[in-house]
Amino acid sequence: MTDFLSHRVIGRLAGLLYLCGSVIFIATAFLPHRGGSKGELLAVTAGSIVAGLVALFAPWQRWNRSATLALVIPALALIAAGNIVQYDPWTYGIYYMITAAWLGVAHPRGTALKILPLATLSYLAPGLWVHMNARGYQSTVIVMAAFLIIGESLAWVSSRSREAETVDIGRMRAMEALVQATVALAAADEPAAAADRVAELARDLLDGRCSIVMLVDPAGGLRGAGACRWPSPASEVHVRWLDMPARQSMNDGTVNGHPGQPLAGDLTHAAGGQPVVFLPLRGASQPLGLVMVVMETEAETRLDHFENGLARTFATQAGLAFERLEATKVLFEASMRDALTGVGNRRQADQSLGLVTPGDAVAILDLDHFKAVNDRYGHPAGDRVLSTLATFLERFLREGDSVARYGGEEFVIILRGVDAQAQSAFDRIAEDWRASGPVTTFSAGVAVHRAGRSPSATLTLADQALYEAKAAGRNRVIMAIDPSEADVEVRAGI
Ligand code: GH3
Ligand code: MG
Ligand code: MG
Repeated sequence: MTDFLSHRVIGRLAGLLYLCGSVIFIATAFLPHRGGSKGELLAVTAGSIVAGLVALFAPWQRWNRSATLALVIPALALIAAGNIVQYDPWTYGIYYMITAAWLGVAHPRGTALKILPLATLSYLAPGLWVHMNARGYQSTVIVMAAFLIIGESLAWVSSRSREAETVDIGRMRAMEALVQATVALAAADEPAAAADRVAELARDLLDGRCSIVMLVDPAGGLRGAGACRWPSPASEVHVRWLDMPARQSMNDGTVNGHPGQPLAGDLTHAAGGQPVVFLPLRGASQPLGLVMVVMETEAETRLDHFENGLARTFATQAGLAFERLEATKVLFEASMRDALTGVGNRRQADQSLGLVTPGDAVAILDLDHFKAVNDRYGHPAGDRVLSTLATFLERFLREGDSVARYGGEEFVIILRGVDAQAQSAFDRIAEDWRASGPVTTFSAGVAVHRAGRSPSATLTLADQALYEAKAAGRNRVIMAIDPSEADVEVRAGI
């Protein structure tokens, strides 16, 4: 039951009905009536007012809903007492209708039926007290039947409206969750974290047990994965897990529930054979992947029209978010790449330089007499030399190293942690280049980054060494002298 008919509201409604009843009752005391002294009428009215005030102010919220049923007993007793003192037993039927209406609105189906014997007794009591006749019995049957019909039909109607209200509240919460999910997806800025987030949001939205997100590339390989409460790390999923129903959902763009168990597929197997719901992740034109939410029961996998629409909307939003992230990633990578040679550009070089740590070697390479190469063989041939050198340099890179075209015919190479081996490493590169029979040689200045120095100062040292290499006749590698070591040499008088 919802707050709209809380225990307190039910109690207060009864209180108001008591007070209204007492107003009617006292009004009849001043009209010509058949029997009952004013004192008796006032006593019944006072009883009704007291019961009304108790019902209005009792802390009903602390007790069970059925506690409010206790209010029926004084009501029936007061109706019977009023009946007796006014010597008009059969006009009191209307008070039973009010009681039945309250029971129907505030209590579950079957309550009016349970109260019926007590109500019948209270209705018969005045008749038995005064005198009972055939009309009395007839009236009892009619009034009690109406009591039952009103009580039960109102209880039925209110239980239906409560159910509808529960569904509405559930839908409202689901819509709120969808809006929040959309906001969260719009804020996602990194595909791996976004995959985990989508898994979490999908699980929350469908109220599932756990979930997994698999992102596929156009070639059908696994591009990324994310999970929420999944029993194993998302990195352990494999694209071959995508069994038939999963692929079907992904390719058709439909949200599908599956009982799980009769499937031998790896994906449903990984979900422990539990019932699952597949949500397709699609871009503007092609499938991007899939979300699988593991549900508790098979019934939960049968989504109604609303739930299906909700899941589809979520999946569309998630698909668009992944597409946006992918496009951003492609653009970002393109913005870091040199169009001619395919290696990093100056932006990439600056970024890599910002990450150097002590012991890393920073080198600037410059092709010798490159202008003459252009002049002699033409600009396109010069371009090919630049590309050849870039590809050649990439061969020497290990994990964490980088090469970037810094400008014109200059390249910046960073070799991580080579330290004392820097000179020999670059000598070997130069030797191999010479051995490859190039159109022209290169000169290089190398500086090893040291603690307490800025990366740009290390680059300046490398640039100075390059200048020396050029001045010394080109086609050579020169190591920058570390300023701190130079100081030592000067002090030692070397
Ligand atoms: P040095 O040995 O002193 O470095 O002589 P250099 O001729 O290599 O140096 P200079 O700075 O005089 O000339 C660099 C040349 O590089 C001039 C320019 O036309 C050429 N160059 C710069 N960028 C490109 C490019 O993208 N493609 C081609 N083909 N040539 C380029
Ligand atoms: Mg140059
Ligand atoms: Mg040059």
